[in-house]
Amino acid sequence: MELNSSIFVAGHRGLVGSALMRGLAAKGFGNLVTRTRSEVDLTDSAAVDRFFAAERPEYAFVAAAKVGGILANNNYPAEFIRENLAIEANIIHAAWRHGVKRMLFLGSSCIYPKMAPQPIRETSFLTGPLEPTNRAYAIAKIAGIEMCWSYNRQYGTQFLAAMPTNLYGPGDNYHPDNSHVIPALIGKFHAAKTGGHSKVTVWGTGTPRREFLHSDDMAEACMHLMSLPDARFGPLLGSDEVATGAFQPPIVNIGSGTDQTIAELAALIARIVGYSGTIELDRSKPDGTPRKLLDVSRLNESGWRPRIGLEDGLRLTYQDFLQVRGSR
Ligand code: GDP
Repeated sequence: MELNSSIFVAGHRGLVGSALMRGLAAKGFGNLVTRTRSEVDLTDSAAVDRFFAAERPEYAFVAAAKVGGILANNNYPAEFIRENLAIEANIIHAAWRHGVKRMLFLGSSCIYPKMAPQPIRETSFLTGPLEPTNRAYAIAKIAGIEMCWSYNRQYGTQFLAAMPTNLYGPGDNYHPDNSHVIPALIGKFHAAKTGGHSKVTVWGTGTPRREFLHSDDMAEACMHLMSLPDARFGPLLGSDEVATGAFQPPIVNIGSGTDQTIAELAALIARIVGYSGTIELDRSKPDGTPRKLLDVSRLNESGWRPRIGLEDGLRLTYQDFLQVRGSR
């Protein structure tokens, strides 16, 4: 990527997309192309094709997706599979048709089998049954990865899939039911502290283990991958298992390399928010997959490591939460 390259950030208002916009601008990339949903509906194939034909972006970060936490995924699976399949199919096809040089397609660690050996390597892709609570979303993302792989094989495109671990950061969705665990707990502990309540409920058994990465680190990792020289980017694009017998999907995991239990996470967020009441477990809510820790050796070997530790990242995120609340 050159500083004057035209770079499309799909989903530029989301958690990762907005981090990418900040990161790219800070590095001096001046030709960033974005569209709001009302300008280009990414589930509309004709609209997406018209957009790529007119703008002809050279690079594309695909951070647009319908996303949500464990309950939203469980309650609205039809919307999760339909919207994500449509967005991916439209963007990947138009990117090939209109000559995008490189694309980074973003997915999520839930594409891996529920019982994948931990830490999860990229080669666990397509090796076993998925966690049922977010299977619809996961299968849509799996289809997107397979599509990148297929276009690379058939058309020689350079479409790479980045699989982040659980992400958090400024501008997250703080909805109490439909969000992910970090924003949900920040919101709940803050509401309890300011409302003088002495009990906060955390879902599940508190024993699942999760790995987290700050969205600014995620953006740094994406920019790093997209900027790799051809000789180092090419081998990440997956090997053609039909010809070689090797199975290497075009995926790079993005994570911090460490995990903790949900109970430990809840205690840490309570301390950062300044909540000192009790924490209760609601075992009627799903735990989801027991452990999700990514093997990040492919990423580390490509020359990248995260900078923001969990405690610092949570402090920054809580500050953002307070600012957003205060400005309303
Ligand atoms: P997941 O990694 O796909 O399971 O996504 P989540 O971030 O939604 O949930 C992670 C873990 O945190 C699960 O075991 C949840 O049961 C647990 N959890 C505890 N309290 C909450 C909460 O208030 N909201 C959410 N979303 N998850 C919670």
